[in-house]
Amino acid sequence: MKQRDEHAKKYEAEGVFDDNYGLETRLFDALSMTMRHRYLYVCNMRTNMSRWSKSIVQDYLPGEYMFDAGNIWLQCIHPDDRQAYLDDIGNVFNGKSLYHDLEYRAKDANGNYVRCTCNGYRLKGVGEEPDLFVGTIQNHGVIENIDPVTSLYNVYEFLNQVKRVHRQHVPVDILVLGISGFHLINDTYGYTNGNKLLLNLAQQLQNLATDDIMLFRLNGMKLAFMLPCSSRSAVRELYETALYIVKNELSLEGEPIRLYIAASAVHYEGTDEDGSTLLSELDYLIEMSKREKNGELIYVDEHHEDSPRHRLDVLGAVKRSILNNCEGFYLVYQPQVDFLGRVIGAEALLRWRSITHGVVPPNEFIPWLENDISFYDLGLWILRQALYDGLGLLKNNPVFTISVNISYRQLERESFLEDVLDILAETGFPAENLVLEFTEHCRTLEPNRLQYIVNFFNDHKIRIAADDFGTGYSALMLLRSIHFDTIKIDQNFIRGMLSRNADKVIVNTIIDCAHKLDTKVCVEGVENEDLMHITRGYEAEYYQGYLIAKPLELAALKAFVEGKEMAGE
Ligand code: C2E
Ligand code: MG
Ligand code: MG
Repeated sequence: MKQRDEHAKKYEAEGVFDDNYGLETRLFDALSMTMRHRYLYVCNMRTNMSRWSKSIVQDYLPGEYMFDAGNIWLQCIHPDDRQAYLDDIGNVFNGKSLYHDLEYRAKDANGNYVRCTCNGYRLKGVGEEPDLFVGTIQNHGVIENIDPVTSLYNVYEFLNQVKRVHRQHVPVDILVLGISGFHLINDTYGYTNGNKLLLNLAQQLQNLATDDIMLFRLNGMKLAFMLPCSSRSAVRELYETALYIVKNELSLEGEPIRLYIAASAVHYEGTDEDGSTLLSELDYLIEMSKREKNGELIYVDEHHEDSPRHRLDVLGAVKRSILNNCEGFYLVYQPQVDFLGRVIGAEALLRWRSITHGVVPPNEFIPWLENDISFYDLGLWILRQALYDGLGLLKNNPVFTISVNISYRQLERESFLEDVLDILAETGFPAENLVLEFTEHCRTLEPNRLQYIVNFFNDHKIRIAADDFGTGYSALMLLRSIHFDTIKIDQNFIRGMLSRNADKVIVNTIIDCAHKLDTKVCVEGVENEDLMHITRGYEAEYYQGYLIAKPLELAALKAFVEGKEMAGE
């Protein structure tokens, strides 16, 4: 019976193309055979029968011919992305739109979520002909493995190789080079010339990739060598040679060009197959090499006290949690009090916990995660969660503020501004009770852009605090052009006041300066009475620290606030 049904379905679906000597069917076959990494579909909108290329059946779906495939496919889509998918596809089916164009996460046959881009188009039928809905789904986990600009293997092949090392247990050394200075080249010589230069660099580096050494172009301006298990001195030698090339051997239109590199490396034993976690760690170290080490090569295990294996285990698990609806993440809240000791708000601080790894503090994963694409989703989750939690606190205290930390990568994304407004609307949390704390790195954004963002939020009644104020060279310069509602002085200065007079002078001066610019000051890291006493002498507006309370889970925060209210503070 089942077989007969299948047969009937197949027959009906083949009718998708009417009688045209099977030309379209053969075309469909040919296209789907040549597009291993892009899945093709055609749906007869009248009968809701559709045909799918064989490769999607291997990776996801139960059959090549399906009735109501939209709903079958829906089950593969990440629950958080389903509504967006239903809305977009709904518009095509109800005639409001001709196009379907959406990116979402979908779970493959191995149970892993991968990012897919789905593009579809409604072909209008004439007379009796049905409308067809035709399109492709691109699975970014498995797209082609060659970079078109340099012709080097790309990041997908790199990840394949990591898997191979894992399977075969043959250790390798990986050297990643982050090239900077390219935006200047593109601005000065144009994009096409920029690509030529990159190609030239890739060719010169490829000459170093003799024997079993492989060279890859990873995302952005990053290149990676994978060497069969080598000594550290051999890896360093390779790095030195690459450094020489980027400094001395490149030219454009007859002019010598000098680029800069930062580098990271790992000796990889193949113990873990999660290549993308390994990559995020290498990316993170590149950023650190750039910012703190003048481009020097940093080896994964030189940087951390924990074994690299343990660390990568934790980071991989943290990242998988994000894809899994942010399971394992939760927020704690540290109260903030005013000059008179009244609780005026709380800062939301992220935590992550798992059965195997226990509670992991944010400093151990946020700087690393910031480089990962999944961080954006986590950031929105944090904001949404903090605002829902905050609603309960506003009932008794309508001026209570919730402060949420925001990092550089979130501000970089164009959509962030609207996303914040959407979450305010969704939660019903009043904008005037929200403070966004821009962490130190945010202030490296282009000043005009930063100013625009601050103005945008202020216009919507959202206040901005500058976190970790005083770190970085340009802190004071920023006050000239941007008006923050509050600055939070970096805790190192606060703690330093107990032993160094200079720190007292600096803190006093920063507070004075802020007040003259009509900016409030929050003192963080108030650990004891001495620090409280000193900073109260400088008349800072707000105080936060272990002396007042450690970060508390929501219920404990509520009890803390109520306790203070009962005590009449
Ligand atoms: P931050 O925003 O400057 O947060 C203050 C940090 O100081 C918190 O550490 C807090 O627990 C700690 N702290 C507060 N009072 C005291 C004190 O009296 N003494 C000492 N020694 N420490 C104190 P935590 O929770 O480990 O967070 C560290 C950093 O991680 C934060 O620094 C922030 O930059 C980042 N972070 C935390 N949660 C988030 C988040 O949701 N999003 C983003 N983007 N970053 C976050
Ligand atoms: Mg903060
Ligand atoms: Mg801070």
